[in-house]
Amino acid sequence: MSPSVVDLLATEARFGAHNYQPIGVVLTRGEGVWVWDTEGNRYLDCLSAYSAVSQGHCHPKILAAMVEQAHRLTLTSRAFHNDQLALFYEEIAALTGSHKVLPMNSGAEAVESAIKSVRKWGYEVKGVPDGQAEIIVCADNFHGRTLGVVGFSTDAETRGHFGPFAPGFRIIPFGDAAALEQAITPNTVAFLVEPIQGEAGVIIPPAGYFASVRELCTANNVMLVLDEIQTGLGRTGKLLAEQHEGIEADVTLLGKALSGGFYPVSAVLSNNDVLGTLRPGQHGSTFGGNPLACAVARAAMRVLVEEGMIENAATQGARFLQGLKDIRANTIREVRGRGLMLAVELHPEAGRARRYCEALQGKGILAKDTHEHTIRIAPPLVITSDQVDWALEQFATILTQDFS
Ligand SMILES: *Cc1c(COP(=O)(O)O)cnc(C)c1O
Repeated sequence: MSPSVVDLLATEARFGAHNYQPIGVVLTRGEGVWVWDTEGNRYLDCLSAYSAVSQGHCHPKILAAMVEQAHRLTLTSRAFHNDQLALFYEEIAALTGSHKVLPMNSGAEAVESAIKSVRKWGYEVKGVPDGQAEIIVCADNFHGRTLGVVGFSTDAETRGHFGPFAPGFRIIPFGDAAALEQAITPNTVAFLVEPIQGEAGVIIPPAGYFASVRELCTANNVMLVLDEIQTGLGRTGKLLAEQHEGIEADVTLLGKALSGGFYPVSAVLSNNDVLGTLRPGQHGSTFGGNPLACAVARAAMRVLVEEGMIENAATQGARFLQGLKDIRANTIREVRGRGLMLAVELHPEAGRARRYCEALQGKGILAKDTHEHTIRIAPPLVITSDQVDWALEQFATILTQDFS
């Protein structure tokens, strides 16, 4: 007999580090927008593993590519060439219009790699004195969990008791171009920013912000590094969120949906000589660019385009956003979103967002709270109109209740 849910939860609690507090559901199967728990209940996944499963759970074409490649060759290390890497480079460069690619695994590793690369560029190309490079970042950022990255977080939980941290970062408010202008010095090598702050609660900057940011970075020879790990690959209804702003980053970071949720694959993309400063032996990863990762990522990118998922994210995102705005409930303070990256911010008096997420679970919807009062909604990009409408009914039912 397979272990009961109670046993699984108890075993997890006993042996696992308690660095997460999951909603109390144990999932065992997924297909498209749906996941099933061990008791056979079906849920609409409105988190998509924080946008990693944008192509839908267990997409058959990505699965086939993964299985086929796993039978042939999985890992060579970069000590040797493999026959998938060149094709991955070519296809991701064509898709995103980038010139150079650095393959990594997790998103945080892509961020770390970008930090290393722009510093090196700063010293070797811009002429910043050694050890003096500065990188500007935004308050309430989320760029991952490595030591380098949490050192410039402004969230007490994220940073607390993990120091000492690396110097060289300046923090400015998000959405404030004047603050960027003031923070830039001759030693500034990069501005690292999310196009939309995801973990902060889907915070969309004011119109024109990124146009100004782009101008300031260009004028001051500062690399604009856009962390599109969550916003990229169709999530906001365009391939990259920068396209909403009519700008191009110098360095773009992708991860999450780059593998459709099958495997950790991330990449640093650059349009100029930033990645060109890396020489043999100066940076690397045992798994980065492995043939299994490349085959999976190639299939994940292909289905995103071939199956119209980016356009669908725009269409269904607009429908979802309007539907949420139409819900008349005293609990709602604000609804916001772009494409299928959506959030409902509750009034503080309405109670904690987690209670609403737990109630949504009872209605067959899995969503995740962020920052006490915000429910984040990010279903797979394959969601249909009928599924959006059904989800909206469930949200309307729950949001008109009071869990304070
Ligand atoms: C998830 C995320 C990361 C970190 O990715 P991991 O794969 O968890 O390391 C970095 N930046 C943004 C914007 C993210 O959403």
